[in-house]
Amino acid sequence: MEFTPHSVPKNTGWIEVIAGCMFSGKTEELIRRLRRAKIAKQNVKIFKPKIDTRYSDKKIVSHSEQSLPSVLLEDINDVIELSKDAQVIGIDEAQFFSNDIIDICNQLAGNGKRVIVAGLDQDYRGIPFEPMPQLLSIAEYITKTLAICVECGNPADKTQRKTESSERVIVGASDIYEARCRKCHYIPEEK
Ligand code: ZN
Repeated sequence: MEFTPHSVPKNTGWIEVIAGCMFSGKTEELIRRLRRAKIAKQNVKIFKPKIDTRYSDKKIVSHSEQSLPSVLLEDINDVIELSKDAQVIGIDEAQFFSNDIIDICNQLAGNGKRVIVAGLDQDYRGIPFEPMPQLLSIAEYITKTLAICVECGNPADKTQRKTESSERVIVGASDIYEARCRKCHYIPEEK
């Protein structure tokens, strides 16, 4: 999704959500939008949850290794104070934040900021991953990114876990996860 100049909201903020499974290019799309805002000389601040330490601590990094500097947060409520001067706020891996993020995003947009949030919309079982469903509801602009099913080549929106753990969150990349379509995705047996 791209904004044409005449369609950019004026004198108000808004929320954009980029949702999808792993390997669907969510972070790449987030980085693309934030880079363009930086080129337009806008003040951009980027945040991600402290839980996600793969690749790099102080950057958001896509699977294709594009990156932008970011601030690690334990508590999403800190965003308000840390982004006072920002015009554009990027939040990656939103599914790892508490439901407070819903109110925080509304507050930021209400204060005139452009808020761009990326996250996993389903867990490895295909169950909606809070707070993404709520964020999708309050956003003005929604992009669902699809990956390619590694089994059959169809568009894929599910994250297949290749281990047997039943913990909801295991941080990892292609060693334990792959993208699958609805037909090829299955819930691993729990041990
Ligand atoms: Zn498939």
